[in-house]
Amino acid sequence: MIIKPKVRGFVCVTAHPDGCAAHIQEWIDYVKAQSPIQSGPKKVLVIGSSTGYGLASRISAAFGSGAATLGVFFDRPSEEGRPATPGWYNTIAFTKAARSAGLYAKNIMGDAFSDDIKRQVMETIKADLGQVDLVIYSLASPRRTHPRTGAVHKSCLKPVGAAYTNKTVDTDKGIVSEITIEPAAPEEIADTVAVMGGDDWELWMDALTTAGWLAPGTQSVAYSYIGPEVTWAIYKNGTIGLAKNDLERAAKSIDSKLKTNGGRAFISVNKALVTQASSAIPVVPLYISILYKIMKAAGTHEGCIEQMHRLFATQMYNGHTPKFDDAGRARVDDWEMRPEIQDAVARIWPSVTTENLDAETDIAGYREEFLKLFGFGVKGVNYDADAEPHVPLI
Ligand code: NAD
Repeated sequence: MIIKPKVRGFVCVTAHPDGCAAHIQEWIDYVKAQSPIQSGPKKVLVIGSSTGYGLASRISAAFGSGAATLGVFFDRPSEEGRPATPGWYNTIAFTKAARSAGLYAKNIMGDAFSDDIKRQVMETIKADLGQVDLVIYSLASPRRTHPRTGAVHKSCLKPVGAAYTNKTVDTDKGIVSEITIEPAAPEEIADTVAVMGGDDWELWMDALTTAGWLAPGTQSVAYSYIGPEVTWAIYKNGTIGLAKNDLERAAKSIDSKLKTNGGRAFISVNKALVTQASSAIPVVPLYISILYKIMKAAGTHEGCIEQMHRLFATQMYNGHTPKFDDAGRARVDDWEMRPEIQDAVARIWPSVTTENLDAETDIAGYREEFLKLFGFGVKGVNYDADAEPHVPLI
């Protein structure tokens, strides 16, 4: 099957198996080119392992520190005439590469919010690993079926308290326009907290603790974002921000339990990057397009893999401990938040229009990275050749 990108709004409905594999190989090569991470993680559970920050964490642990990894993710396999979602192909490519390097890698595909998937993970740890020493919690999900109540919670990306008007960009069409988003209703806030807050992370950690599958000194980390004031109404102070506050609450609670055995749990605040999750947030893609231009010019631009390798190498391992901010969060968004970077973004923001989008922002870089998430535009891949979309998970 010849597979080409089919972009529909902020998603691409096709993915290229060989392109995804080549993209993953670029991430692996990046990690292998860095010095090995000393005293790094040895047995790692990654919840949300198939794309974005979770996949980058898994690759950093495996290829930076020789870790055994167990990945949990929710992707769609191929169907008649339709490729699988990128996380499916990414996971196959990662697993093949890890196993050829002599590393343990196993995958559990399904809903991480469910008791059934948690049980499968517990059984796999018992059978194969004994214990884990790092748990990465990196889910970005539009919905959660609560395992106790059966209620289906849907997350939304809305401001809280008042309507929010700002610029946004249709990244596919290149049109800059003003968008007004009405504030969330109280139940929408509660639903978003139920999906993207810390309740499920706590359920995972409690289940692992009760089973005895956490090694002494286990660390657990979940990811958050803060960003500049221009995005606060839709992010930090919006429904997703309230969910992230709940994730921080959970981090403190989990931390107090892990501490009793020499471990810790915390939040790492990461940089704004093009992922499937962030492309769905209004306003943020325009901010990212400007940010990329400024950070690339400053020589400080990083992608998911550079971010997660830096978190491991300079904050969690290699003899380091996290340098927490006043609220107890690790910060790898520090380069993004440097005043000279944010001042430059703020100078460009008011003047961006559809007409000057190409000149004033790195919309081209945004699009390139967006397509790469689906395995398109990756160097060395022949997109005119037949590709096999139907590949089983390994
Ligand atoms: P992503 O969409 O690339 O990855 C999400 C992962 O979660 C995928 O592996 C997916 O399969 C998995 N997943 C989703 N629902 C699931 C379910 N029900 N069961 C099992 N797996 C499921 O997202 P991302 O951008 O890497 O986000 C990961 C975390 O990082 C989120 O907490 C996000 O808020 C945070 N973060 C993202 C950014 C950014 O700019 N992208 C910045 C800072 C923090």
